[in-house]
Amino acid sequence: MNLQGRTAIVTGASSGIGAATVRKLREAGVRVVGGARRVERIEADLALPLDVTDEESSAAFVGRAVAELGGLDILYNNAGLALGRYPFWESNEEDEATVLHTNVDGVLRMTRLCLPHVRDGGHILFTGSVAGRQAYENAASYVAAKFGLRGFVYGLREDLLGRDIRVTTVDAGLTETEFSLVRFKGDAERAKAVYENVDPLTPDDVADCVLFALTRPPHVNVDEVVVKALAQSSGGRIVRRPS
Ligand code: NAP
Repeated sequence: MNLQGRTAIVTGASSGIGAATVRKLREAGVRVVGGARRVERIEADLALPLDVTDEESSAAFVGRAVAELGGLDILYNNAGLALGRYPFWESNEEDEATVLHTNVDGVLRMTRLCLPHVRDGGHILFTGSVAGRQAYENAASYVAAKFGLRGFVYGLREDLLGRDIRVTTVDAGLTETEFSLVRFKGDAERAKAVYENVDPLTPDDVADCVLFALTRPPHVNVDEVVVKALAQSSGGRIVRRPS
């Protein structure tokens, strides 16, 4: 399917997978509004501030984006994060709230706000995670959030059955982005170690999966794509080269 002339909203467009997807969508002729808190980092047709954890910010973003685009064909719910790598007894209220509000509530909110504007032939996509399919240690709140996201998408697919809107989740494995820098709260050494002695996925690899789902013929719904680095079988089981 040709994407030329279509319109899209991408959340989490300031970095990593979101930024790579914005680039690829624009190369395919899609007009893209990108949203994130660090709006100055977004390279899209229009960059707007967005905090998916905040109803007012999200509503204002969607209102401006849809007015600019004149209708919506593609929503890519990609904004998300993890905080910390600790056993759950070391967890705290603040990290749990941020992780759940961003990855779950934020995704429900953005989908609810955008859905009335999605045209027939539209497509709603999500960045899930291998963490939402198989637990790994010291990541319980993130695992809970991504399992929650997957449940929501299954429910949404049921509700949209019979309508001309496709739904896809890309469940990504180890991908080298700022994800680990955020998770380790700015500890660059720790973040770098996550990607050492292994060939992780690149943001472009994940963006390619998004583009694959979008460009199938209209009657084909790619429900889920699970993509991992070759050297991993789950979020917690990664084989590294000897250093
Ligand atoms: P990243 O480089 O840190 O990008 C995360 C993006 O989410 C940023 O653009 C960030 O923008 C945005 N974001 C975070 N909180 C937000 C909020 N409250 N409102 C709006 N935007 C927000 O990491 P990434 O790896 O590309 O992450 C993208 C998605 O992939 C996430 O859902 C993540 O859970 C998922 N994922 C990542 C991996 C991996 O290994 N990297 C694996 C599986 C799934 P601002 O900070 O500027 O707001």
